[in-house]
Parts: sequence; structure tokens; C-alpha cells
Amino acid sequence: MSEIVDEIVVESVARQRPLVIFDLDSTLFNVSLRTQAIVEAFARDPEMQMKFPSEVRFLSNFQILARDWGLKQALERAGFKSSEEFGKTIRDFWRSRFFSSEYLHHDRPYEGSREGVDRLHQAGAEILYLTGRDEKNMKIGTVESLKHWGFPLKFKGDNTANLIMKPIKGSIDDEAFKEIEMQKLVEQYSDPHHDIWFFENEPVIIERVRKTTPSVRVIWVDTTHSGRAGAPTDVTVVDFLNV
Ligand SMILES: [Mg+2]
Repeated sequence: MSEIVDEIVVESVARQRPLVIFDLDSTLFNVSLRTQAIVEAFARDPEMQMKFPSEVRFLSNFQILARDWGLKQALERAGFKSSEEFGKTIRDFWRSRFFSSEYLHHDRPYEGSREGVDRLHQAGAEILYLTGRDEKNMKIGTVESLKHWGFPLKFKGDNTANLIMKPIKGSIDDEAFKEIEMQKLVEQYSDPHHDIWFFENEPVIIERVRKTTPSVRVIWVDTTHSGRAGAPTDVTVVDFLNV
């Protein structure tokens, strides 16, 4: 991360104020602790304890790892098997909490992510967050978490000025949402000397953005991803988990 930050600082700040865009989940923040907290809440729930005693016993000692992507994949990685009913119940339990403000305080910035953003900000880069999280369910917690961890946030009156979120959950998929928002940003910052950088963990989003807005300089944050597209092979990589 610090090498890329150096590059952006040296290459761009000297010329003009660059725009540096960051995804949040699995790019700046390790979200595995959010899932861990939800699993623990499930295991403490008296109704779940009664309905799924053996599953709850397993979950009580289950550790979500930083490279796990979501809960389903974590359980598969552990070789855990159970009924369809349990699968559906825990998936619903997880989804309704993971995509809400309530559990966002469990997230932790990756080591080095906050320092990198801060250095860019100090050097004069414009910082913007572009996330698939939705405003309705996740804005309050997102603003709190960014503030809590000291990520630079700008306000216009009461409203955030450098945080772009999906208005409504499920209204559009993440790659289409980010493709459209990135096109708007490229138009807005149309000066050819004004570099736009984009840090993102999800290959399917990277593919889309590179195709539609090739002038954007993409950095792949290699933490964890859905696997819906393969790892990009010809972009600069940040590896927060291998330092
Ligand atoms: Mg992400």
C-alpha cells in the first residue's frame, strides 16, 4: 500500500489534485469480524439454540477468517454440513444483520489502509468512498465507522459530500452501480491531467470499470472476493493480508 501511495503522491499531487476512490468492504475494512459477531449472536439466540442444538455447538467455536467471503463460503471452507432449513435460517439471520448499520462497528480497517488514505489526504488528494452499501440501511453506521476510524469525511451541511452509496438495497447490482457512478465521476473530473485512482477488491467490478472507464487507474485490493470473475492479472495489487 505505501508504495502505491508514494506513486500517487509523486506522480499526481505534483501536477494536480488527484481523485482517489475507495471501496469500503474488503478494500479498506476487514468485514470478517462483522460476520463473526453475527455468528456469535446466532449461537446466543435461545430460539436457534433450541432449533439447531448441534449447529449452535459447532458455531460457538467457529472462527471466520479474514479471507473468507461471506458466511456460506466460510462454513464450506470448514467442511460444515447441515440441513437446508438451517442453511436458509442462518443465511437470513446473517443477511438482515450484515447489511445494516447495527453491526458495522465490528469492522476493522486493514493494517495500513487508514494510514494510506490519510497520507493521500494530507498530500492534497481528494478522497471519495464508493460503496455498494445502501443509504437506507447502512448510512448511519457507515458514517459512524468512517469517523470512528479517522477516515477523512467531507460534509455539505449535514450531508456527507465524499461518500457515494446505493440509494436502496438490491435496486441495482454492485458492478452496474459502480460502473454508472464511475462514468459520472470521470465526466465530472474530465481534465486529462486530473488522475482518477480506484481501489477495489471485487474483480467483477474491476473488469466492468476498466471496460467502461479505461482512464481510471485501478488498484486491486487482494483480500477476498465473490469469485464471480477471476483475479485480474495486469493491475497493480495491494495485499493488506500478506504484510
Ligand atoms: Mg468490496
